[in-house]
Amino acid sequence: MSDCIFCKIVAGELPSSKLYEDDLVLSFLDIAPLAPGHSLVIPKNHYEFYPQVPADEAAAVAAAMLKLAPAVVASQGAEAFNLLLCNGAPAGQVVPHVHFHIIPRRPGDDLGFRWKHGSYAEGEMESVHRAILEELK
Ligand code: 5GP
Ligand code: ZN
Repeated sequence: MSDCIFCKIVAGELPSSKLYEDDLVLSFLDIAPLAPGHSLVIPKNHYEFYPQVPADEAAAVAAAMLKLAPAVVASQGAEAFNLLLCNGAPAGQVVPHVHFHIIPRRPGDDLGFRWKHGSYAEGEMESVHRAILEELK
């Protein structure tokens, strides 16, 4: 997509600190990191939303993350990481090209992620369960 920042990075029209590249996948440092080493992993082809990614490309992205995440963590002397995908604006997606974040984590960093858990009303969990199973048919 011609006006997409990440497509421009894939095409070499914008610079990036590349970490990994193959036919289907590109990884590079996030320009505004939540922690040093914060990296992005993207399919080279342009898809705005994760469910649009063909299975072989999604598998290639997942395989790249398996190698990248431990390397990012080890390089920064971190102890842990979050893998994060923001799919759609209400989920925090800003750049409209599918991307996973690899975010190195340390004890006591102030990034959070202990989201507030809710609870189901009587019978609600069963109806939610049925609704999702129906969508999967
Ligand atoms: P989102 O909120 O869409 O999941 O995350 C987009 C991410 O892309 C942000 O973490 C932001 O810092 C990063 N980003 C935005 N523009 C650029 C850019 O031009 N280069 C790089 N390397 N990262 C970018
Ligand atoms: Zn794009």
